[in-house]
Amino acid sequence: MTRLAIVSAMHEELAAVLALMAGAQQHRVAGREFAVGKLHGHEVVVVLSRIGKVAAATTATVLLERFGISQMLFTGVAGGLAAQARVGDVVVATEFLQHDMDAAPLFPTYEVPLYGLSHFKTDAALTAELELAAETVLQRGLLDASTLHAFGMQQAQTHQAQTHRGLILSGDRFVSTRAESQRLQQALPEALAVEMEGAAVAQVCHDFGVPFAALRTISDRADDDAHADFLKFVERVASRYSAAILAQFFTHRAR
Ligand code: SAH
Repeated sequence: MTRLAIVSAMHEELAAVLALMAGAQQHRVAGREFAVGKLHGHEVVVVLSRIGKVAAATTATVLLERFGISQMLFTGVAGGLAAQARVGDVVVATEFLQHDMDAAPLFPTYEVPLYGLSHFKTDAALTAELELAAETVLQRGLLDASTLHAFGMQQAQTHQAQTHRGLILSGDRFVSTRAESQRLQQALPEALAVEMEGAAVAQVCHDFGVPFAALRTISDRADDDAHADFLKFVERVASRYSAAILAQFFTHRAR
């Protein structure tokens, strides 16, 4: 039977899902609370990883070693890098790269030493499931521009939220200046968004041979306004996205 892990970095990103897990068995390992139970009739383990690559890698490893999960999902928020990745949009990851990995001149910049890899791919089938769920939710207008506007997301008022798929960058930096965001875009023009955990989870899942998929809602544009936008978004909107998209995701799944 499939046992799916659902991971977010921060409570705000997963609050509505965690509320549904209130009756689940709680296990405390490495300072994290793992909720083991059923979500929409499916066996899951839900956990907050905390922020950053090391915290995410530790959490992913515990999920794989202690909880025997067979698939891993990450849901959270990210800063938009590509012009089309606007606040309120959803990016489904096809691959991850650590933008702060640089062992040059010993290894090419971004390559994880001894892996011969800089890009870690997500699982195609699981990613397709997640993308379909996100598209369905956004198209249904459940989280449309007026909803976002009602939550105070001014940037979102003029466009219908969209789903994108592609490369997401991870690093141990909250990207919050236009200068840094532009540097990343110039160095890695195909990158859609930037966050702080996904590439670490992707690498751990690669090591264990377990399918991984991830989605990120754009909370900010990784620019000079990023901090204010991020705080508003996580407080008001982020967990609605995760809850709605996961509910949709499970309606398509065989039990
Ligand atoms: N709670 C702290 C730090 C949040 S770090 C604060 O209030 O500032 C930002 C979190 O959201 C990380 O988990 C990261 O994955 C994601 N994220 C959102 N926007 C980001 C950005 N512009 N740069 C990097 N990470 C971002």
